[in-house]
Amino acid sequence: MRTVTGLVVALMLITGGPGRAEWYKGNTHTHTINSDGDSAPDAVARWYKEHRYNFVVLSDHNYLTPVDGLNKALAAPGKFLVVGGEEVSDRFRDKSGRGFSIHLNAVNLGRVIPPAGGGSVTEVLQNNVDAINATGAVAHINHPNFGWSLTFEDLLAVKNYNLYEIYNGHPAVNNAGGGGVPGTEAMWDSLLTRGKLVFGIASDDAHSFKKFSPDLSNPGRGWVVVRANALDSDAIARALDRGDFYSSTGVELEDLIITDKRITVKIEPDRSSTRFTTFFIGTGGTVLKATGDNPAVYDITGKELYVRARIEDSNGRKAWTQPFYTGARR
Ligand SMILES: [Zn+2]
Ligand SMILES: [Zn+2]
Repeated sequence: MRTVTGLVVALMLITGGPGRAEWYKGNTHTHTINSDGDSAPDAVARWYKEHRYNFVVLSDHNYLTPVDGLNKALAAPGKFLVVGGEEVSDRFRDKSGRGFSIHLNAVNLGRVIPPAGGGSVTEVLQNNVDAINATGAVAHINHPNFGWSLTFEDLLAVKNYNLYEIYNGHPAVNNAGGGGVPGTEAMWDSLLTRGKLVFGIASDDAHSFKKFSPDLSNPGRGWVVVRANALDSDAIARALDRGDFYSSTGVELEDLIITDKRITVKIEPDRSSTRFTTFFIGTGGTVLKATGDNPAVYDITGKELYVRARIEDSNGRKAWTQPFYTGARR
């Protein structure tokens, strides 16, 4: 999605004004040599710029990599932006000695945040969410199944965050779940079914920019496409926090129109013979409708509680739209 949406084109024709919303592709989770990445911040930022992203958040472990110099050096205002961030990386050890990895990203961060600690997994999560919120940055909870550290109950108990990773491109984070533990997308439906509105992020969690292989955490695997009024850190962070974005591992959308009555997903066709299926999903992960149409359209009855869409292509790539609570709750 590189163009202005149809809806916005219509608005522009009416108003002719600036400040129009556009779609910006970005990755909110990336490491550099300032933590355990293999490349300097400049090389990391350039990778994303050269691969036609509009923004990247540098999120080193417990370190705020400076971005002002990078933005000056890359000199692409309105086209590409490096956003300040940190992966606040905390740990909790229970009485049995079991360790839990508790990681949260702070997007649009102005000062480094030390891990906050706490007396339980949920307390550590909450303390770090609160610490991130106190700086004015936006928090997203990362890779819940990494080390099988965070459960659906943890995500349900924590307050005042809107975002968590439903897809993380690192090869060892167990997105799909297993052994009786739900995958991150199934957790999402459990949260939404309980009335907890959270938005799903797809990210790279990239560490390796020099060698590419399925067992390395390479860039380009998961991203968000954000609808914002401007390509600046505040506008991007705010749009993420209010759920004005979709997540993707390869499927691109031309437009997404949601009203009280209808959800319309316009899929960007690719130049090959790829085919698409759109699944509209409601309470408990129930598939309300599956369609091969493009645009894919779902007419809201008002009895669904929520509706979200997952678009899959015939080569396994996906996109996820954010949940929309229908008349039953609104
Ligand atoms: Zn992490
Ligand atoms: Zn990470």
